[in-house]
Amino acid sequence: MKFAKYILIILLSTCLSAPLLAQSQSAYPKGYFMFPIKPGQRNYLAANMGELRPNHFHGGMDIKTDGQIGLPVYACADGYVSRLRVSTNGYGNTLYITHPNGLVTVYAHLDKFNATIHAYELEQLYARKETDIDIVIPAGTLPVKKGDIIAKSGNTGGSGGPHLHFEIRDSRENVLNPALFGFTEIVDNIKPTFDKVAIRTMDIDSRINGELGRAEYTAQLVSTGKYTITQPINAKGLLGIEIKVHDKMNETHNVYGINCIELKVDGKEVFYHNLETYAFNESRYINVHIDYETYILKRQYFQKCYVADGNNLNFYLMNPLQGKILIKDTASHKIDLRIYDSNGNASSLSFTVKGKQEQAPKITKPATPVPDFHIYENTLKITGSANNTEPAILYFKNKIAKISPAYYINQSPVYVYDLRTGLPDSSKAGTYTAIYDFVEMVSPGKKKVVVDNLTIQFSDSTLFDTLYLRVKKHLIINGQETFEINNPTEPVYGPIGVTFCPEIAANKNERCYFYSINNSVSKKYEGGVWQEDNLVHNLKYLGKFTVLKDSIPPVITYKSNTTKRINFSIFDRGSGIDSIYATLNGEWVMMYYEHKTGLIWSEFKDPTEVLKGEFVLEITDNAGNTSTYKKTL
Ligand SMILES: [Zn+2]
Repeated sequence: MKFAKYILIILLSTCLSAPLLAQSQSAYPKGYFMFPIKPGQRNYLAANMGELRPNHFHGGMDIKTDGQIGLPVYACADGYVSRLRVSTNGYGNTLYITHPNGLVTVYAHLDKFNATIHAYELEQLYARKETDIDIVIPAGTLPVKKGDIIAKSGNTGGSGGPHLHFEIRDSRENVLNPALFGFTEIVDNIKPTFDKVAIRTMDIDSRINGELGRAEYTAQLVSTGKYTITQPINAKGLLGIEIKVHDKMNETHNVYGINCIELKVDGKEVFYHNLETYAFNESRYINVHIDYETYILKRQYFQKCYVADGNNLNFYLMNPLQGKILIKDTASHKIDLRIYDSNGNASSLSFTVKGKQEQAPKITKPATPVPDFHIYENTLKITGSANNTEPAILYFKNKIAKISPAYYINQSPVYVYDLRTGLPDSSKAGTYTAIYDFVEMVSPGKKKVVVDNLTIQFSDSTLFDTLYLRVKKHLIINGQETFEINNPTEPVYGPIGVTFCPEIAANKNERCYFYSINNSVSKKYEGGVWQEDNLVHNLKYLGKFTVLKDSIPPVITYKSNTTKRINFSIFDRGSGIDSIYATLNGEWVMMYYEHKTGLIWSEFKDPTEVLKGEFVLEITDNAGNTSTYKKTL
């Protein structure tokens, strides 16, 4: 994969500096699609394609609908409805239209489909007796013409306000940037903005201003579209650059993402990123495209201007160091960054890094650091207690090792240690003792690790990169059993299989499931399946987990009814709503659910049918607790 990308840069190096968007224009036929909201009029976006989001890149444009639900949504071109989803989460009510040129347009968070499509939807819901469906529809079933009103815009699913989420995909499920299709409804001639730059050391010998780790700098505006960093920067070794940027469009207050980044060192391009398209199912690689730790701790997105190990996205071109920079001399090096939004507006940021072998002088005297440890790639960095010049002692199973300070911050010694040479159990640096809970070094690939009553299963897709597995267990908090697998700031790509056998008998209960407790304020239901005494689940992230019992059934509140429709609100405190099941005189009835308001309501397939007889509603939570409501209508 990486080899192929390296080849690419050799082949394409002559067109790296070519203007953005020049690539494969034929893939984005201009004028083929009409705009799906208020076509021909000025429109505004709430979000653009490629924006950085939790665990994914935003796959399309969010088109504003004047803050309302119910604007007509038009088919962008001739075609047929090829997929239909009804869901209380994610995309909500969604239509996919396949066009004769092979492209697919996607319309999400819809309120209602048009009468023909809605009748088909109800037929499918009643045939399947399921409240959430995601179905593929053959050609010829629901044909549409360009400009047909296919739906009313809405706010369904995970939407945080009324808008249309609009995507264009190719037949291989690659999402394409809709801005490249020449919609004149969107006006944008505002240059993007640099907020911050971070520089990170990439190995044990590298330093940034004399330290191992990561340093952030605020971008200073020089003139429109031109930025710099005013602080002096000294560095040596292998470095990675990250940037935090945003974009604006005319006459809106919204903040958007950018689509293209170019990095040059001493006039030579070392990294280029152009997010015109990516595979929809590879969006989770965003967690190594960004600095995941900063995102988790500060909710700030810094994009790497290098390709981290395990990142399989293919919209980058880079030097043989994957975009990283190697500074070996004492000369000054010019760093030029250029960013483009999807409409071709560009800004640049330039600064100088001075190569220096010795520790850099500080601009301001740093505060005495708190003794601590941190793992950067393969390097363990230990900051010892102040005013101590002694070596740190690392304690292993059968040996001890002494390491001298690598450098000092103020009066505090900093020790660096390559974890590939062995995993210590603990260390002592002055008066500071650290306990590491290392289990073993896990490389990407299948692997099973057993730590007492916890079995951790890594699949081929779990890890981006080497994981220094640390497990902490049996912290009993209020009678709960907890375990920690590494830290939530370390990203994983695929699920981590866990099999946990609780030691406390009360936790071996069919109403007990995994919850994450990374956020000290709230416990989040994760799930699980009981296999005899073991609770088994695929965790989506690392961090702290516990097993909790939920024996409280959901609450059902009757609201109102007519002869055609009955309305309730539902609520569950612990594990959350899992399923909704309603019958009238024993026959299944569709109940729509809006999770943001907790409202549910019925709809018959046959519009002549009336609500008369015995109505029964069953709501079940994720822990299997069911509430039943009965009413004779
Ligand atoms: Zn969206």
